[in-house]
Amino acid sequence: MKLLLRFDSKTVKEPVLSKATLKTGTLINILRASVGARRGEILIEVDDKKAKEVEDILKKQGVEVFELLEAVQKDEERCVHCGACVSICPTEAITFNGEKRVILDAERCVHCGACVKVCPTRALSLPL
Ligand code: SF4
Ligand code: SF4
Repeated sequence: MKLLLRFDSKTVKEPVLSKATLKTGTLINILRASVGARRGEILIEVDDKKAKEVEDILKKQGVEVFELLEAVQKDEERCVHCGACVSICPTEAITFNGEKRVILDAERCVHCGACVKVCPTRALSLPL
């Protein structure tokens, strides 16, 4: 499961992920991170069976946790298959199929939002 973590200046310097790993004994995969001096946002992936446990430990440390059940969404009626989102996606979650139509692979999406910003027809959106 993918979990989006947001934290403020109080918790940004704490080793919150290391603590969660040690306490749960599960591996945490960091898919994306943006951490500044005052706030941070990290997208992690954890085993579905351990997700609730990890979530609870992080919340106790003051981290806001959001379960990301959906990837970026595409409005098929708005998409003109221009490919702008294909070239900017860092994980190849958006690609052309054999018929030059743009398709999404939700598993690969790391919710960075880059495609949403470049889409000329506003066909793309993120759930959070
Ligand atoms: S940028 Fe927008 S219109 Fe262009 S292919 Fe992607 S979703 Fe479709
Ligand atoms: S949100 Fe980021 S990772 Fe997901 S499809 Fe768009 S560009 Fe790719």
